[in-house]
Amino acid sequence: MKIVIVGAGISGISTYLHLLKHLPNPSAHTLVIYESHKPRSSSPSAQPPADSATFDSLSQSTQLVGGGLGISPNGMRILLTLDKALHDAVAAQGFCVENFIFKGANGWTLGTQKTGDGKVKAIDDKEEFCIASSRHGLWETMFKHAIEVGGSGAIKYRRVVSIVREANEGAGIVVKFEDGGEEMVDLVIGADGVKSVCRTALFGTEEKYAPKYIGQSGVGGFLSLPMSSIVASKAMTFTFGPNGFFGYSSSGPTPPNLMWWSTFETSSVPSIKDMDAAVIKKALVERHKNWKDPILHDIIKNADVESVYPTWTVPELPHWGERGIVLVGDSCHAMDPTTGQGASQGLEDSKTLALLIAECLKRAETEHRGIETEKDAVDLAIKLYHEIRSPRVAEIVERGKKLAGKKANVGPVMEYVTYFFLWLMMAVPSIGKFLLGDVLRSLNTWSAEEEVHKVLQKLEDSS
Ligand SMILES: Cc1cc2nc3c(=O)[nH]c(=O)nc-3n(C[C@H](O)[C@H](O)[C@H](O)COP(=O)(O)OP(=O)(O)OC[C@H]3O[C@@H](n4cnc5c(N)ncnc54)[C@H](O)[C@@H]3O)c2cc1C
Repeated sequence: MKIVIVGAGISGISTYLHLLKHLPNPSAHTLVIYESHKPRSSSPSAQPPADSATFDSLSQSTQLVGGGLGISPNGMRILLTLDKALHDAVAAQGFCVENFIFKGANGWTLGTQKTGDGKVKAIDDKEEFCIASSRHGLWETMFKHAIEVGGSGAIKYRRVVSIVREANEGAGIVVKFEDGGEEMVDLVIGADGVKSVCRTALFGTEEKYAPKYIGQSGVGGFLSLPMSSIVASKAMTFTFGPNGFFGYSSSGPTPPNLMWWSTFETSSVPSIKDMDAAVIKKALVERHKNWKDPILHDIIKNADVESVYPTWTVPELPHWGERGIVLVGDSCHAMDPTTGQGASQGLEDSKTLALLIAECLKRAETEHRGIETEKDAVDLAIKLYHEIRSPRVAEIVERGKKLAGKKANVGPVMEYVTYFFLWLMMAVPSIGKFLLGDVLRSLNTWSAEEEVHKVLQKLEDSS
């Protein structure tokens, strides 16, 4: 089979590695990733490349967005089961966050939450924590691993412009490139992010399937500042205020390693003039001038704004693929960053899809229960993949919607209502569970292997 993955972000690279690991006879298949953007420089503080000069291009690739992110324990477990060396390398270049500290702009500490999954995992299982990392650090570690495992040809730099199914039943899928080239393939895996051309190939350009700007944008960057208190508390700090949100944490052992970000409300996608660094810095100072945390002020005083990003989400789609085209990660479910789950859900997608393709191909080899060809196997895998993954993602998206409003502009009454709500959820965990469900348990007890086993068993039982 010829398999093309479009996009070498976190989801694309992870899908590549999982397929190499799980396909019954990987050398019998051709597997390649096509990526449109050359990576930015190795330093997180380096200027983004020239083609990030428009918001449209920023939205096409989170690699260009840069900044930092937290990989939650469920995502780290996917990396652990994929390859321990990769997991350890991701953890080593990042910063192990054992606590989330929630604050109010007025200086109150509203609560602390442990990030570790020890409480809900078997006791002999080593506890996983949230790993804070520059996006580039995570991506580069995964990229190097993919090259080590798959060779230098694993990732090719070519922009895919469209994907077309051949008209006659059973024919292949044509991937068309910006350079005018074309390739006929059997399976296209769209890991091409929020502005996905693979999603367009499946759903066309209808507005109801297009990404939506959520009315919030963010700025962020990295600094070298003394941060013994941040490191000692092993914490990522989130501060909520009446006119936005501010977060900071260490991003790992190598300076500049104080990562920070600030989210603010803008009813429309910011215009290109808003990308002027001096304008952004002025707005940042203005926005947070009355906030009480001295670390926040130290950061803002020293900050150079490196990335600006409008936030997009992808609406719930009726399916995530059919007839040889399938989506993973942000291309099918870009979610509000408040969830802290975008990357981890991409990792879970990739493992689930690879396990299903592998299992269905094994059944095709023995022509088991009507699965006679590789095409049958792929179609079934795509269908089961959506069956497993969409309810999980929908639950996380819904929870994110409840929390996202807490970053919007509010008056003084709502500001204190927000503080009270956040305090209450952490001070009385049963109320948090009542409002949001048992988040820790539902995030960290999910297992791709178990879910795949269950759907295949159900299939056996029904036939
Ligand atoms: C501000 C912000 C903060 C976030 N914080 C967190 C967090 O703390 N924790 C978390 O888990 N998640 C977080 N996320 C979400 C997370 O970053 C994304 O969910 C994740 O990066 C998605 O990975 P992906 O590989 O699916 O997509 P992307 O990272 O967007 O990768 C898509 C890739 O496809 C390439 N591509 C696009 N179009 C084409 C084409 N036509 N041809 C070839 N290649 C193409 C792109 O260049 C890119 O490399 C955050 C997101 C944002 C915006």
